[in-house]
Amino acid sequence: MQWAPSKSIMKKNYLFTPGPTPIPPDAYLAMAQPIDYHRSEESVALIKDILEKLKHVFQTENDVLFLTSSGTGAMEGAVANLLCRGDKVLVIRSGKFGERWAEICTVYGVNIIPIDVPYGDSVAPEAVEEKLTAHPDLTAVFATLCETSTGALHDIEAIAGITRDSPVLLVVDAVSALGADDLQMNSWGVDVVVSCSQKGLMTPPGLAFAALNSRAWDATERSDLPKYYLDFRKAHQRGLEGSVPYTPAVTLLAGLQIALSHICAEGIRNTFSRHARMASATRNAIKTIGLPLFATSPANTLTSIRLPEGIDGKTFVKMMRDKHGITYAGGQGELSGKIVRIAHLGWMNENDVIVAISAFERGLAEIGYDVQLGAGVAAAQEVFAK
Ligand code: PMP
Repeated sequence: MQWAPSKSIMKKNYLFTPGPTPIPPDAYLAMAQPIDYHRSEESVALIKDILEKLKHVFQTENDVLFLTSSGTGAMEGAVANLLCRGDKVLVIRSGKFGERWAEICTVYGVNIIPIDVPYGDSVAPEAVEEKLTAHPDLTAVFATLCETSTGALHDIEAIAGITRDSPVLLVVDAVSALGADDLQMNSWGVDVVVSCSQKGLMTPPGLAFAALNSRAWDATERSDLPKYYLDFRKAHQRGLEGSVPYTPAVTLLAGLQIALSHICAEGIRNTFSRHARMASATRNAIKTIGLPLFATSPANTLTSIRLPEGIDGKTFVKMMRDKHGITYAGGQGELSGKIVRIAHLGWMNENDVIVAISAFERGLAEIGYDVQLGAGVAAAQEVFAK
């Protein structure tokens, strides 16, 4: 007889990646219930309830629509639904995800004017203003709230201050930062926000969201780019009736409803405060340990840490996962091996941060970095004690 399950839970695993993120137990339980037909009365009520709760999280009065895809599906949908062949758009490229906006636009035959920002930095809003003045024929600006590949936060409020009184649409990727870093879609005047399930929304990967204001809906009427599965107008119309154009990830919707209930009960402003405290404690700990933060304006979604010469990030991340069951994210692309990213995102609290920091210190010591064990934890505790 074999007693051991295929994957032992006695080695407890901790997920500190910027997506997927940990899932609340009652959301797991909701997803373990018998599956329902997506056109049942209960599913209609579930979809309507989810779309209402999402408005609170998006801080908008606009309708939110959902797609069964990862976050990139909503990004691609934004390009395909808002633009026309030959349009010219401004793309802020400051990491992998800003670059993704540019790649999607290029695939759709849209011309891009890039603003290239060094990895780790955030765009200067004046640079956006200059480009808009230099290119009066731009139709949209594509930006990222938290550039997850570097940990940098962009000043979307300031950029919206530039675009909202112009005919140029502001499209924001809040895939990682929704529910962690503030984004006031309505009051800042952001035209389009896209996001997904597996980050701040504490649900497995597989659902993507988009909110559009009336200017953006007008643009969808003009758009002549091809779209079928990602047609926003279809998803929107059906969503209003608690319906969907195609079979959705029913199981994930059941979990999402519970996860969103937690955010609504906490109140989105309190959710931001919790993330701000966790981020501030993490930053204080890392500085005390003696390592530099990688982002000049770090987000509350995650903290990126530049590793000292001689410490290979890939080895460190692998060792932490294999030996300690701690999963941090490494660097992507040219940052591979050079940075470590610790997320404090979604279903997390102050104690999770203490685990993340204490394990980080211990791992650094094991890999040969001169660290005073407990110094980072104390620095984090100091922030929490305030
Ligand atoms: N944008 C940002 C800012 C992200 O963090 C991610 C995922 N890490 C994506 C886009 C892509 O999302 P997905 O992997 O769900 O398609």
